[in-house]
Amino acid sequence: MRLFSFLCRECIIFKKERMSKMKMQLPIPNQLIYWHSLNKRAALTQKQKKYYENIKKGFAGEKIWYSWLNELSQEVIILHDLTFIHNTSAIQIDFLCIFEKSMIAFEVKNYKGEVHVEGDRWKSGAGNEINNPLLQYLRSKSLLSPFLKNLKVNLPLEYYIVFVNPEFFPYQLPYSKHVILPQQLKRFWSHLNQMSSVLGGKHEEIKKLILKQKEQYQSQTVPCEWTDLKKGVSCPICDGLMIKRKRTVCCGQCDKSLSLDKAILYNIKELELVFPKIKISTNLVYEWCGCEIDKRVVYRVLKNNFKHLGNNKNRYYVREE
Ligand SMILES: [Zn+2]
Repeated sequence: MRLFSFLCRECIIFKKERMSKMKMQLPIPNQLIYWHSLNKRAALTQKQKKYYENIKKGFAGEKIWYSWLNELSQEVIILHDLTFIHNTSAIQIDFLCIFEKSMIAFEVKNYKGEVHVEGDRWKSGAGNEINNPLLQYLRSKSLLSPFLKNLKVNLPLEYYIVFVNPEFFPYQLPYSKHVILPQQLKRFWSHLNQMSSVLGGKHEEIKKLILKQKEQYQSQTVPCEWTDLKKGVSCPICDGLMIKRKRTVCCGQCDKSLSLDKAILYNIKELELVFPKIKISTNLVYEWCGCEIDKRVVYRVLKNNFKHLGNNKNRYYVREE
């Protein structure tokens, strides 16, 4: 299992090779790493905790749909977690797949339980009004086509909203061929799998063009002071902190153990997302990790994975482009 694929790339670029059964884990989006960190380091409000739970649930749904996409037998480029700005409006897309003759975007929803649909209003089984995901989907759909046209991408575009949770029961949901319910996943997947697709240089160019437009986007952030945040080695799997044991760190909550390098790299990623403008130095990372890992190890990891700037006293590290 590749736990750390997110350290290399935040959005997946994956061309399936014919006959290859290569599997990749879906990289964790930056937004989720950000909230994962703050959930254990800061005192979040109930509303913020709920927001974090929702994006966690959303990502769990995306992983389910990704596991289906990953099983497609033809060549396809799968882009994940994209945000673009088009005419001052943000477009967020869960997956954009580039096939030989078309592009398909997917909005993934992990809704669970009964939902009653009355026109544009969605209500939970308990009668509470909930967000109508079709409105968000329709909005993104109407923005994505002109955005791609602007880029002179001329492959036809289709857009689907996919509900992946088998325990989702919508009542009175009008039929649309672009809304895929859990019971239809297998048939829909078979339909996708029947399209023939062989990719070439043109598709690579489209991928590059699209990724160039990608924006870093945080829909919500929490104002943070360094001194207010709990320091320690954050576990990437659960909400626990990790304790040093010889050459590894081990999570006090889920028992996961990691090499020091991987743990430091993950915690630097959190640090960069929580404080995007901060200068990364050995002392800073050492303190962020709760002084749990030897400063010399932190220095070595920084030296091996980042580019250093500044003189000896004010040395700081940046990611190599
Ligand atoms: Zn853990």
